[in-house]
Amino acid sequence: MFTATAGTMLPTTIIGSLPRPSWYTENLGRRNFREAMVDRFYREQYLDAASAFLRDQETAGLDIVTDGDCRFDADVGGHNWFSYPPIRMAGFAGAEPYRTEGGRAGLPQKRGHILHDILEARVMPDLIGPVGRGTLQYTAIWKAAQRLTTRPVKFGTITPELIAMAVRDFHYKDLRKAIMAVSDALHEELVELVDAGCRVIQMEETQIHLLAAKGLVDKVLNPDFMVEVFNNTVRGLRGRCEIWCHTCWGNPAGQRIFGTQPSYAPALAALDRLDADVLTFENCSTGGMDLEAIGSHIKEKKVCIGVVDHHTLQVETPDQVAEMIRRALKHVPAERLVLASDCGMGREGMSRRHAFHKMVSIVLGTNIVRRELGLPEARCLAAEEQFSMVEDR
Ligand SMILES: [Zn+2]
Repeated sequence: MFTATAGTMLPTTIIGSLPRPSWYTENLGRRNFREAMVDRFYREQYLDAASAFLRDQETAGLDIVTDGDCRFDADVGGHNWFSYPPIRMAGFAGAEPYRTEGGRAGLPQKRGHILHDILEARVMPDLIGPVGRGTLQYTAIWKAAQRLTTRPVKFGTITPELIAMAVRDFHYKDLRKAIMAVSDALHEELVELVDAGCRVIQMEETQIHLLAAKGLVDKVLNPDFMVEVFNNTVRGLRGRCEIWCHTCWGNPAGQRIFGTQPSYAPALAALDRLDADVLTFENCSTGGMDLEAIGSHIKEKKVCIGVVDHHTLQVETPDQVAEMIRRALKHVPAERLVLASDCGMGREGMSRRHAFHKMVSIVLGTNIVRRELGLPEARCLAAEEQFSMVEDR
């Protein structure tokens, strides 16, 4: 249900991660969150960084905020987005470098390519026993951020298939069973999170569009099973919480993983069957090429489109953002349109200031369209002239 976007026309947000402050040098490593928060140096840096992430979003004027993925370590390409759960969930152990034999989740790039570094940095535990929640501690992490702001904090988690596909399975020896076991464990974690009061959860990201685009369909890795996995993971939650499904075309170290960004068109029917309230689409980097297809397939869920690109340092202007929103409004009604970045901006991508000004552009561009439609605008402290320190001579 629309517990976060309800009541706001053309709500704005980001997908999740933000660039870490340079002074945020502490890392979780293999500790769990509560254990690390006993360490006063970690606790101080973590809470200061989360506050900085939230303040930047509030100063920009975003309606729905995130904790910037503050729990993830400063590692190559933002790898911790993958490794955070299996390091802490029950059933996983060890720290094994990625191997290509039989590897499903591989990137084809050879040594010398930046994405090869990503593969070298993919050190993951093995799956050696029954999967359980372990010490994911999503609720504590969400509370640590939500108690710093009155705006809804959107909590993001990687999806079960990506965890199961990234590890060697010596227990289930069956990818389908492994994925469903991770799904059940994540479900328990999310139930606790919703019970604690979290109003918006984002699943990052179903493999539906990637499988559909690659035409890769086997008896496990196919869009229908991915719909089943998603819906199993969030079962029963949508009645009490707003469920988002994030999709994009890749983000390690802020890199594109496809030469030309594929189209969402082959995946839209399956995406529409997800038990989700909001679907996010990478849209800025593709020049809005799928807007018409998205509008013609997605008729009830809200549609969140990227209006700034997480791969580029050039900050989109408010006019460019407004123009993209006007194009989107030809296909998606304002009541169902949400604006965001294409993906997270913090996975070893841009600087803090680049990300900040992209967030400001999201809000200023949305305000232009809100003004045109007679809708209330969001206050953007970052752009108020009265606070400029540059004086007229
Ligand atoms: Zn993404």
